[in-house]
This record gives sequence, structure tokens and C-alpha cells, in this order.
Amino acid sequence: MCGIVGIVATSPVNQALYDGLTVLQHRGQDAAGIITIDNNTFSLRKANGLVKDVFHTRHMKRLQGNIGIGHVRYPTAGSSSSAEAQPFYVNSPFGIALAHNGNLTNAEALKELLFSQARRHVNTTSDSEILLNILAHQLCKSGKLKLEAEDMFSAISNVNELVVGGYASIAMIIGHGIVAFRDPKGIRPLVYGKRETESGTEYMFASESVALKADGFEFVRDVAPGEAIYVTEDGQLFSQMCAVNTQHAPCIFEFVYFARPDSVIDNMSVYATRVNMGTKLGEKIAREWADKDIDVVIPIPETSCDVALEIATVLDKPYRQGFVKNRYIGRTFIMPGQEMRKKSVRRKLNAIDREFEGKNVLLVDDSIVRGTTSAQIVEMAREAGAKNVYFASAAPEVRFPNVYGIDMPSAAELIAHGREVDDINQSIGSDGLIYQSIEDLIAAVRQENPEVTEFETSVFDGQYITGDIDQEYLNRIDALRNDSAKSTREQAMSASLELHNQEESEGE
Ligand code: AMP
Repeated sequence: MCGIVGIVATSPVNQALYDGLTVLQHRGQDAAGIITIDNNTFSLRKANGLVKDVFHTRHMKRLQGNIGIGHVRYPTAGSSSSAEAQPFYVNSPFGIALAHNGNLTNAEALKELLFSQARRHVNTTSDSEILLNILAHQLCKSGKLKLEAEDMFSAISNVNELVVGGYASIAMIIGHGIVAFRDPKGIRPLVYGKRETESGTEYMFASESVALKADGFEFVRDVAPGEAIYVTEDGQLFSQMCAVNTQHAPCIFEFVYFARPDSVIDNMSVYATRVNMGTKLGEKIAREWADKDIDVVIPIPETSCDVALEIATVLDKPYRQGFVKNRYIGRTFIMPGQEMRKKSVRRKLNAIDREFEGKNVLLVDDSIVRGTTSAQIVEMAREAGAKNVYFASAAPEVRFPNVYGIDMPSAAELIAHGREVDDINQSIGSDGLIYQSIEDLIAAVRQENPEVTEFETSVFDGQYITGDIDQEYLNRIDALRNDSAKSTREQAMSASLELHNQEESEGE
């Protein structure tokens, strides 16, 4: 998963881009980048690390200009080296830079097409570089030195015909402006907003509405599936549908885990959908576990707190914070190697023994992926003195890999892959395990906007809505995502970080 921002303003955008990326940091902590246009020249800063660590005063001073885009990365298909941090740019035609959130499922075919039809070389394993070159090739076709809005839209229409997958993208073109576009199925989120100033209207695009708010932009609306919105450098806005056969199927995992609760995606408040998930799951627990004498409901912080509080209300049981989270440790999920992950769960969470002693506790998490967190937490609850430990997941069983931009382990590493609830319950060591049903999850999210009738739910049901995913593709991503592949990439990343640090200190 990644976060993207883009701003066309009447004054320098560096600070606003930085602030926007900081608000989207939860979408990717692996690398960050900002590129701006000043005097028809790109200024770029990108590196591995958190936003606060990547940009120093000297970089911000260089990132001049009233127009720019930014990116935070959570690697999925590509590598985690700093050379593959976004935004990427090409020099022809014009200077074009691109930031992208998602994953192209036909990246290999596109790479071949770029070489055979456009003689364009792609230098990294990142599908964002592929998307950028596909866009550049299509923009080239107009042959014009100055593109009109219709040229931009016809290029994006061609891109949408060629590209398959989930993608929300923001491209910036020297001498023109910013064009933002969302895949024809609206899998990945993208919103835009505006801000009135004395010098004119300014526009901002972002993965989540919360970034607009943080930068003082008024939310206008979501970019529609298959739509492109072009804002010229002097602040004129044009929009057009650039795809046929659009379908609105936003990724449901954004609501389960990824997005911030204070964001609104496709007119659905993420917070409200999580409360609804709590109501549905609470009702299921009341129905199916009437015999279990639950004393207390305890969330596994933080995403599940909103769900757990609602479950406690439905069950009429106390809600207690039994675990304290150390905020200064990275997410356990992205650390390769099972041992490493186990250790970091313990470093990240600590139990307050008094809340567990002699009690039947219901632990609530947003989802169970590998099961590492849940198994450790169940053990911690027992060590803290719990009598019985029950476990509830706000999402259904995660059984299949994600191919549209969410980092999920290889299928074999998913605890629910090919397994049923009793078996998983035994594996994580709980005295009872209950999952939200897929129907209830969809209903919980839809309740906030009944106009959305479909969701991208492949991690739960294995249905890939782009229709192009076969076993061969899944085997290929399995090979990229398993622990040993990840640790090879991790080593490459350490080497590149070392080189980068060396270059940085030489440049001081
Ligand atoms: P585990 O079952 O140990 O793999 O971890 C599950 C926990 O990781 C969930 O409770 C979420 O809070 C979090 N999580 C779920 N999906 C992801 C993801 N794609 N990337 C990072 N963390 C995730």
C-alpha cells in the first residue's frame, strides 16, 4: 500500500506536500519522495525512511515551486531499494513525473510492449515506472508541443485500455500541470479538494481525505473510477471519464485496516464502517456464543479499538484497554522472518496484568493475517492471568494474496489459507475463535453508502475482479512475497541505505 499527494497552488507547495505525506504515513513507512516543478525543472528528493527522516531543511529548500507531487511507499510487488522509491520521472515527451498507489497485474506484458512498441527501457522492478512510461508513450502520440485537456484525456483513455490492476495515480507534466486518474474499477482510493486564496483557487489530490483536511483544503469529491482530472499549472480544472465499462468496487481492506478512521472513502466514513463492523460482530457473538461467559472485551490496539468498543456495547460487557502499545516501533508485519516478527509483537505490546487476572477475556483484532500477532497475544493474555481467552476478528478469514497493492504474505504463509476456524483456533491457542462473515463485513461498509454495490474482496474469497489472475500469476507473486524473497530484498535495501548514507555524508 502507498500514499500519494499532488498540489497545484499559487505559492510554494513543499511544506503542504510534506504535511500531506506525514498524514498519510500509515499507508507506507518504507520510503518517501517529493518532486516539484520550478522554472520548468524538476527538483526531487526521495529516499528510504519515514517522511520526518527523509526530508531535511536542505532538501525542503531545494524543493521549490508551486506545483508538486509526493509519495510514501509500502513495497508490494517491487523491491525496497531507495532507487525504487517514488516519484519516478522521465524526460520525454516533456518532463513527466508520477506517483502511484496500487499494483498492475499485467506489468510484465506492459514492459515488453514498452520495449517493442516504444523502445522504452524500464530500469527498475517497480510497476510505477512502467505506468509512467506507458503514460509518456501515450502522451507522445499527440505529437504536440502543448497538450490540451482533450489530449491528456485521450492519453489516459489509452492507458486505461492497456493497463490492468488497481491504480490511483498522480502525474505531473512540465509546462502543463497535474493529471490524476483512478483505475476503472475504483479499487484504490483517490480524492481531491480545493482551497481559495487571494491569488486564485488551489487544488490538491490525495489517497485519503484526511490529508486534504490537514492541509486546509476543502474536500470536493472522490475521483470516480476511470475518471481523470487535469489541473493546469495556472489552476484551471478539467475532468473526463476516460474508461468504458467502469465498475465501482473499492478495496474493502481499506476499511478493515488500512485507511485512517478519520478519512472518508467513496462517501463512507472509515470510522463509521468500523463501528458497524463492531455491531455486526457483536451480534454474531451474542447469537453464537451465548454459552461463553465473557467478562471483558479487550482490543488489540489500535485499529480494532473502534470495533471492540462497539462489541462491548452490544454484549453489554466492560471494554478495557488491556494492552499498551509502544508507538515508537515499526509495524511487525513488514519485518521479514517469523522469529523477528514474534519478538517485535512483544516489543510493541505489553499487557496490563490486572485486566486479565482470573477473567474470561474477549480479544478483538481487525484481522488475522499470518496469525503471528494473535498467537503471541493469546499467550500474553494467559501469562497475564486470563482464565479463558476468546478471540474475535473484525474481518473474515484472510485466505488469498492481494494483487491490487496491499502487501499480503504468500498464500502458504496466511494462517487461514486452506484451513477452517477450529484448526486456526488451535494454532493461535485460543479457547474460541470467531470471524466476521463476508456478508456482514460488506453490509457494515455498505451501510454508509448503499450506492456502492460491489467491493474488491479477493483476500477473503479469492475472486479477482480484473479477471486476469491465474495460478501462474499467483505462483509468481508467491515467489516474490515469501519470507526468503523478502529477506534477500532486505539485504539489498541495507546495502543501498549504506551507499545512500555514504553519498549523503559526502554531499554535506
Ligand atoms: P498477523 O496475523 O500477525 O500477520 O498480523 C495481523 C495484524 O497485522 C492485523 O491485526 C492488522 O492489524 C495488521 N495487518 C493486517 N494486514 C496488514 C498488512 N497488509 N500490512 C501490515 N499490517 C497488516
